Order: sequence, then C-alpha cells, then structure tokens
Amino acid sequence: MSEKTSSTQLAVVGAGPGGYAAAFLAADLGMKVALIDMEPNPGGVCLYVGCIPSKALLHIAEVLSEAKHAANWGIEFGEPQIDLAKLRAWKEGVVRKMTGGLGQLSKARSVQYIQGRASLLDAKRLRIEKTGGDIETLSFEHVILATGSRPATLPHLPADSPRIINSTGALELKSVPKTMLVIGGGYIGLELGIVYAALGTQVSVVEMLSGILPGVDRDLVTPLAKRLSQTFQRVMVNTQVAAVTETKEGVRVKFEGAEAPPEEQTYEMVLVSVGRKPNSALPGLDKTQVELDARGFIKVDGQRRTKEPTIFAIGDVVGEPMLAHKASHEGRVAVEAIAGHKAVFEPQAIPAVVFTDPEIAWCGLTETQAEKEGRKVAVARFPWGASGRATTLDRPDGVTKLIIDPETERILGVGITGAGAGELIAEGVLAVEMAARASDLRLSIHPHPTLSETLMESAEVFFGQSTHLYRPKRK
Ligand code: FAD
Repeated sequence: MSEKTSSTQLAVVGAGPGGYAAAFLAADLGMKVALIDMEPNPGGVCLYVGCIPSKALLHIAEVLSEAKHAANWGIEFGEPQIDLAKLRAWKEGVVRKMTGGLGQLSKARSVQYIQGRASLLDAKRLRIEKTGGDIETLSFEHVILATGSRPATLPHLPADSPRIINSTGALELKSVPKTMLVIGGGYIGLELGIVYAALGTQVSVVEMLSGILPGVDRDLVTPLAKRLSQTFQRVMVNTQVAAVTETKEGVRVKFEGAEAPPEEQTYEMVLVSVGRKPNSALPGLDKTQVELDARGFIKVDGQRRTKEPTIFAIGDVVGEPMLAHKASHEGRVAVEAIAGHKAVFEPQAIPAVVFTDPEIAWCGLTETQAEKEGRKVAVARFPWGASGRATTLDRPDGVTKLIIDPETERILGVGITGAGAGELIAEGVLAVEMAARASDLRLSIHPHPTLSETLMESAEVFFGQSTHLYRPKRK
C-alpha cells in the first residue's frame, strides 16, 4: 500500500452519464481532468445496472411479445426456448462493450481514470482509496460531484433475503421465478416486471397511489394500463404492503387498501422498486459550504455550482428528474461554466421515456402540470387508430398529443403513448425548445407511412383539419 499526492485542474467524482460527459467535454476544452469511480470503467448506474441492461432485456421482451402477437397474422413460432445463461451473457456483453468503449474514449482524451472511492478532505482536495488499497490525495481547482443515486428501501422487510431484490438484483436475472410481486408502480418496476412477465413469470404490481406511473398524464397511461392488465397477473392500486414475512415456500405478503386481496399472498420473489435516493453522504462534504435540501439532494444554482465556489454537482445527486440525459446535459453546463463560458441549465423540455409496451414519452409542459398551475392550454390529440403506420403494425393502442398555448399557438409540451414513442419524442423536444407553433408542425412534411405523422396530424387536429380524423373545429 502506498500514499501519493497529485494535482489536477478538474476532478470529477462518479463516472455515470453525468460524470463522464463532464470529464470528456472538459478534456475536449483542454483541461487536465481526473475521473474517479469504483467501477473499472466509466458508465455509472446507467450503463452497469440501469438504462442499458434494462433496455437490452426489454428488447428481448419485445421480441417475445411480438412473436406471440404474430399468431394474429397467421404466423406461429411455437413456445420459445429460453437459455437464461446465454441471455445473461448477451446482456453482460452489451454492458462490457459499452463501458469498455467509454474506457477507451477516456484514454483517447487523456482523462486520468482513477478506480477507487473518493471523499473530500476540504474544498480543494480529495482523498481516494484506490481499488487495491493505495491512497491518493488529489488537489483540484474545481471538482464536480456526480455520485448519482441508489435504490430506496422499505422498512420492515426481512434483511438479506435472496428472494427480496431491487432493480440491480432483478437485472442480474439469476432465475425466472414462477411468481413475482413488484412493489411500486413507477417506471423501473414496470419495465422490469415486463421483462420477467415475457420470460414466463406471473407478475403482480402493488402501488399505493391511485394509478401506475403517478404524475404522468392519465390519458397517456390508459393504453399501457389496459395492456398490462393482460401482461401482468394483477395490478393493485391504492394498495400498500402491510407486512412481509419469509417462509420456506416464498415471501408472504399482507396487503391493505382498496384493492388488497383478503388473504395473504405468497411470491417466489419480491422486487422492491420504490424510488431512488441521492448519494450525497460523501465523507468530508460537511467540511465544506455545500448544502443539502430536505430530501438530501445537493443544492446547486443554474450553473450547477454549490455554495462552495470550487464544488459543482450534477445528475441524480442534485434532484429530479433522475434521468441519464439530464445528468449529461448538466455535466456539460457545469464544465462550460468552469471554463468561463456563458452557460446555464434552463431546459424547456427534458424528455422522459417509459420503455414499457406500449412506450410512454413526454416533454415540456404536461396537462397535469398545466392543471396544477391553473394554466389555460389547448390540447390536440391524435389517436393512433387513425394512423396508417400504427395499423400496419397492428398497434393502434397509442395517442399523440400537443399541449398548446391558445393565445400564441406555441407548442408547450408533447405527450406520446405507443410503440416507439421514445424515439418520436425527440421531435417534440425540438419543437418545444425551438418555440415552434402548431402551424410549424402542421406545415412540416412528414414521411408516410410513419408514426411521426401523428405529430403533424395532432397539429392538424388543433386547427380542426386533420386529414385522417374528422373533428371540425367548433365555430
Ligand atoms: P450514476 O449513473 O448514478 O453514477 C454515479 C457513479 O458515481 C456510480 O458509478 C458510483 O459508483 C459513483 N460513485 C458514487 N460515490 C462515489 C465515490 N465516493 N467515489 C467514487 N465514485 C463514486 N435513465 C434514463 O434516462 N433512461 C433510462 O432508460 C433509465 N433506465 C433506468 C433503469 C434502471 C433499472 C435504473 C436503476 C435507472 C435508470 N435510469 C434511466 C436512471 C439513470 O440510470 C440515472 O438517472 C443516471 O445513471 C444518473 O447519472 P449520474 O451521472 O447522476 O449518476
């Protein structure tokens, strides 16, 4: 074990999508950069145990579901044979390929990647316990904290039970249980529930609020809720887990609330997916002027600077929405601010995508938010039943809607439910960020037959002139 001291211009703690995007841009701008993380390569939660492995598995779920669906069109594939070891290896290969690629990109930019755990000595120095035991004291001009988040837990759950897992455990895909309860109807629980259901598990979901995906516009959620009522064994809303005990047969769960089954239920596996908590308990942070809010998020200004002038923070550790692309964007803003450029984090539209089947995506102002704020908006909806492309895919279970300022006709928000909504929402982001008006979308020729036409046609709906939907504007 050795101890050494070194210095850098910019240190970045945490190499997730926030940290590595920041480190790479800083290096591109000519700064000397050190990037520190416990993992062997950059990637963070998103690449190791989040976005990427979950989407790899959801792709498989989609293939399985589509193969079943094909029976409606006269094509039978028979029962799928699932080689779990091969499936796991494929998912791990995807993660390895991407994190390895980030390692190479880091080297190519001469970013010094340090594998270890960092803590703060003061507002100018980090102490890094490197993997292997060596200690490095690294002084910096600026540091960006990008330490991310971790799964929240529930009290009173049996400790260390292999049957009770979080999203990280679910992504390991050690087995395909016969039954699984997902606690929490948020996007992570639903996405992982869909993966297990596609592999053959009978999945139940319990959500204490009145609907799955709380906070999302209800008309966007309806087509998903309808499909999930077939995919999942049971979805219980307005219902809570009252007690959990482990028995030889499995995990016994007692429920209470509106849709609680009268009897206790036993599940082979329970997936706890009740949100995420910021990793803001960095040792030494208390020796600086950095402040946390009531939920434990690090407080930052528009340039992602904390109360301590040398310390910036980005990504999940500074607050909602806890999404990879938000973290990356904040990382780039922080670096530009450190470089003395005019930069501020002021997005009009941070897209959110729920990669369920059908997908749900939205950006900018939502109807729920407009209602809460008492803001008057016009809403133009185009149901996918009227879309040629959706019909060719046999997926009419979708809707595209625009939230429009009735005075200026500016597009303030976009919401989409349907196959591939996650890809389609990018056009909505551009429309909102570029302050497009409904007429801009209506007058932009969209390729036929595509699902992107639903954006153009929803703008036509606003004017009462949609070609494929007869809804004349009231005089
Ligand atoms: P993280 O990615 O959390 O990275 C933080 C890193 O900091 C970690 O590698 C950690 O090891 C390191 N670290 C922490 N403390 C220290 C320390 N003291 N010293 C050194 N290193 C430290 N988001 C999306 O946008 N799209 C999705 O589809 C999506 N799917 C998801 C699916 C799942 C199952 C989960 C769990 C999350 C998903 N997310 C998704 C959320 C996304 O993963 C996060 O928003 C994103 O990773 C946040 O990036 P970050 O840079 O803030 O931090």
